[in-house]
Amino acid sequence: MNLLNSLKKNGYRITKSRKLICELLESNIHFHFNVKQLHQKINSLSKSNIDRTTIYRTLVALEELGLLQHSHIPHKPAIYFLNNDNQNVHLICEMCDKIVDVENDSINSINLILQKDTNFDTINNNFIFVGKCPECN
Ligand SMILES: [Zn+2]
Repeated sequence: MNLLNSLKKNGYRITKSRKLICELLESNIHFHFNVKQLHQKINSLSKSNIDRTTIYRTLVALEELGLLQHSHIPHKPAIYFLNNDNQNVHLICEMCDKIVDVENDSINSINLILQKDTNFDTINNNFIFVGKCPECN
């Protein structure tokens, strides 16, 4: 996955900030984050001062290209995920906000049950399950 190249190819302006944001995302392929967390991380790593609007706009651009997506949990900031290998379902702890990737095998089983129950075809899971993790239980 080359986020910066995809932006370039699709006519987006490439700036130093965008380059840093893309590099950070690519080096944390399983990282799940909200804009505030990404903002803190990128500015602590790069010693630069990239504002949240720049980060947000870059995320929107990547999302338009289908490379990224976000999910909402009630009363919490949007969480962004890179699109990779159909690994797009996450389980989040409502107490500590820990996020766990749901295995593809589990997703396939869930999809089969849904297909059987509803007769829907090609069900696409881009969502979050909310629960309580073992540590918080
Ligand atoms: Zn927890």
